[in-house]
Amino acid sequence: MAKEEKEIKCSFCGRKKNEVDMLIAGTTGHICNHCVAQAQTIVRDELTQKNANGFSALQLLKPAEIKKHLDEYVIGQDDAKKVLSVAVYNHYKRIIQNQNKTAHKDDIEIEKSNVIMVGETGTGKTLLARTIAKVLNVPFCIADATVLTEAGYVGEDVESILSRLLQAADFDVAAAERGIVFIDELDKIARKSDNPSITRDVSGEGVQQGLLKLLEGSTVGVPPQGGRKHPEQKMIQVNTKNILFICGGAFDGIERKIAKRLDTQVIGYNMNKELETIDKENLLQYVSPQDLKNFGLIPELIGRLPVLTFLNPLNAETLRRILSEPKNALIKQYTHLFEIDGVKISFDKNVLDFIVEKAVEFKLGARGLRSICEAIMTDLMFELPSDTSIKEFNVTLRYAKDKLKKSSINKLKVA
Ligand code: ADP
Repeated sequence: MAKEEKEIKCSFCGRKKNEVDMLIAGTTGHICNHCVAQAQTIVRDELTQKNANGFSALQLLKPAEIKKHLDEYVIGQDDAKKVLSVAVYNHYKRIIQNQNKTAHKDDIEIEKSNVIMVGETGTGKTLLARTIAKVLNVPFCIADATVLTEAGYVGEDVESILSRLLQAADFDVAAAERGIVFIDELDKIARKSDNPSITRDVSGEGVQQGLLKLLEGSTVGVPPQGGRKHPEQKMIQVNTKNILFICGGAFDGIERKIAKRLDTQVIGYNMNKELETIDKENLLQYVSPQDLKNFGLIPELIGRLPVLTFLNPLNAETLRRILSEPKNALIKQYTHLFEIDGVKISFDKNVLDFIVEKAVEFKLGARGLRSICEAIMTDLMFELPSDTSIKEFNVTLRYAKDKLKKSSINKLKVA
């Protein structure tokens, strides 16, 4: 009996009974007062950390601060960045104002500032929306408008967009309710024709109608796993009043509508002077709600996307900057990847120019930079980790050209 008593010790730190103030018995072991205190600190720290990552605190950054963060990740696109920063600032100011409001009758209701961005594919629309969400530490999801159809038809219900947001928020409904949703390819749900046809436009105008209630703010039943709603499924109620919707689309051919509008606008009124100042190379900068309507968006939807901005096409100079300047630029990523294996990798300057040249030639835009880099780097990434004798590698133009020539990416070349 006496022997057994002597051997009682803390199952966590191993301290004996006589070394501690207290030993608490559990079903199969003991814990001392030191370990209880330590465990309490760990639990508290973990929970605080979880709240920080768990989108609990809403940080209200000033527009200039938001833009500064965007500048770290997105090259150029100053107009879009400015407009977006202001829209996001106003949106979250509105939420905070509503939270603190002591219901006055004549309180000014700040309206929601959902955003629509028009710009060629691969110019940074998704990147901007994603970066904004990261800066603000709010849940974020990307939805593709092309998979949506009007309720009752093959495809996904508009509410399925919110399933993704809920998943991104780890099913924390309160966090999701102030998240950001990026709806990509909004142009693909443009009305198919101006005449109401006999066949219903279930993936075009029907979806636009469906989106209205989400965008303006209402409580909707969301299927937790997404897809089609069905009667047996348990729905989660989500209020979209404070969710910021950012829509994006390439709106191929909208330039013609813009040009036509500008043409008719300037005719008969100081025509030559006005026409001279128009930058015909980049007509998207003049985009207006009227052009979106002409493209096939219904006026109600345009009304719920009051902030309209555009993205500039990427030229060689911008692509060159994208390659090496942003915080997680491709070149920085590759350098880091090799660093992990203890290899110092470097690139000759003309290699970077060559990559940009190819991206322009293949008409692949910023997305193409990645595919071209992969084509050049794959062999190295395969071989270097097993060859511990190599500690440094310099990628030369000859090496890059040789690897690219052998890769299948050449098939992507646009004739
Ligand atoms: P979009 O949504 O306009 O089609 P993305 O935002 O998805 O285009 O851009 C595709 C990729 O190209 C991004 O992952 C990013 O690496 C790069 N990219 C595009 N535009 C920029 C930019 N302005 N600055 C930095 N990277 C960019």
